[in-house]
Amino acid sequence: MSEAPPRDFIRQIIHEDLESGKHSEIVTRFPPEPNGYLHVGHVSSICLNFGAAGETGGKTFLRFDDTNPGKESEEFVRAIERDVQWLGFSWDDRLTHASDYFDQLYDAAEKLIELGMAYVDSLSADEIREYRGTLTEPGRNSPHRTRSVEENLELFRRMRKGDFADGEHVLRAKIDMASPNINLRDPALYRIRHVHHQRTGDKWRIYPMYDFAHTLSDAFEGITHSLCTLEFEDHRPLYDWILDQMKPTSRPRQIEFSRLNLAYTITSKRKLSALIEAGVVTGWDDPRMPTIAGMRRRGYPATALRNFVMRGGVTKKDKLIEMAVLENSIREELGENAERRMAVLHPLKVVLTNYPEGQVEMMQAVNHPHRPELGTREMPFSRTIWIERDDFLEEAPRKFFRLKPGGEVRLRFGYIIRCDEVIKNDAGDVIELRCSYDPDTRSGTQTSNRKVKGTIHWVSVQHAVSADVRLYDRLFTIPDPTSAADLMDVVNPESLLEVTAMLEPSLQNFEIGQSVQFERLGYFCTDARDHSPDAPVINRIVTLRDSWAKIERQAMA
Ligand code: ATP
Ligand code: MG
Repeated sequence: MSEAPPRDFIRQIIHEDLESGKHSEIVTRFPPEPNGYLHVGHVSSICLNFGAAGETGGKTFLRFDDTNPGKESEEFVRAIERDVQWLGFSWDDRLTHASDYFDQLYDAAEKLIELGMAYVDSLSADEIREYRGTLTEPGRNSPHRTRSVEENLELFRRMRKGDFADGEHVLRAKIDMASPNINLRDPALYRIRHVHHQRTGDKWRIYPMYDFAHTLSDAFEGITHSLCTLEFEDHRPLYDWILDQMKPTSRPRQIEFSRLNLAYTITSKRKLSALIEAGVVTGWDDPRMPTIAGMRRRGYPATALRNFVMRGGVTKKDKLIEMAVLENSIREELGENAERRMAVLHPLKVVLTNYPEGQVEMMQAVNHPHRPELGTREMPFSRTIWIERDDFLEEAPRKFFRLKPGGEVRLRFGYIIRCDEVIKNDAGDVIELRCSYDPDTRSGTQTSNRKVKGTIHWVSVQHAVSADVRLYDRLFTIPDPTSAADLMDVVNPESLLEVTAMLEPSLQNFEIGQSVQFERLGYFCTDARDHSPDAPVINRIVTLRDSWAKIERQAMA
């Protein structure tokens, strides 16, 4: 279930702006650059933008910031649309691109020139950098800063026509080369780039810079609150300067909030892309990736992701959130909704020597411990079963309540069994257990009142479905991978372990997209890319929390 969001400082401002009548309708936008797939950080921005507007009956644009042709692609555009929709948000007819406004942006630039607030500079990139000064030293005016309006207009028009090579000229705002804020030292507004654009083709030889395009796109769309992450705080004076010059009919307000960072992972499209290039993961939707596509394939429910970012809140303080917080949201959602099944990940064979050969009994198993309406299913029981390898210990400590030589354990929905004999191979590995079962202890119809401390799961060997199960662990070995000199040094070499598991036969019909709990092990789902009924491929979504596992074990005993 989605929760109602708490009123954070941004929602508070929005609320006040509605109360005071400053705005009658709230309009926000989510403005991704289509240069990669969206990640968990974007989830927080999406939920904030769509959430804060939607809760007040307002609306939200999905605007692609496509001002950087060459790095952007239609694949990314489609992936972003799919991800936003999957999260549960709708932009209706408000899907736009910065490139939709290239004509208007060009006109705005000419207007700035006419106002004497922009000029064409012909310094080289290196010279511009040198003239810019530093944090401690003011910049110097370019010798071209005093060009006449006419000369600027003529040069800018020729820039557009394609008369010049990349870097020969640049259009700059005329603000203040001595400003303590470097963003105000005559920032570039347009640059020459002879590059094909994925939407406008070869129409343009000049492209607007992000700050210019973003500010005015906000104004064109009637955005009331332009919500962005803290690194744009220093850009706000430029944002406001542009609005002051252009005097649009609707004036957006930029508000910054802190980025969401997740421990043991990274939230930067560029760095995620490097992981793919290095072959650390198989692609943007690898289930280990913190991308929305990866998390969806991994089996994270959209509701759980929304609840997760909601609980993180919206603040101005930088935060590194523990993976456990995300995982607890996932467990909470799946614990409530996922049916229980049995599977053995690391199978060890058990032969019940006193169970009749060829006999099969159908055991009743409940599908959910707290939701009887989800019903029951039958699990075939027979003479030879698989149990989890680590549910047996040859040299067990006293408090080990699973199987040990001479010890007893209950098989979930089955009988109490006793371990009589341990079979090993030449290398000394345990390869089979010979056990005997107590016919008077069948679950549900128990005729003896014998009790044992431990309960373990099992699957009948002759009925089992074998499956490729992928066990995921965190991608990095340290909480803040960005602190490493080289990201590759801190990649977890054991982030993926593949095992051939044995599943109960009802999982023969494991549906695509279905998530279940394998009792005592965690939550699992079919892999949307690789699974087929004939060759099941299953992802571990998340393990059971330790305390949770204990509670469940007690409930089962
Ligand atoms: P990346 O570094 O991954 O490319 P970005 O900020 O450049 O991130 P954009 O596509 O420009 O990516 O982001 C779209 C929106 O998402 C922006 O408004 C940005 O502020 C927001 N956003 C990006 N990363 C995070 C994050 N970690 N937490 C919250 N919001 C984020
Ligand atoms: Mg960016």
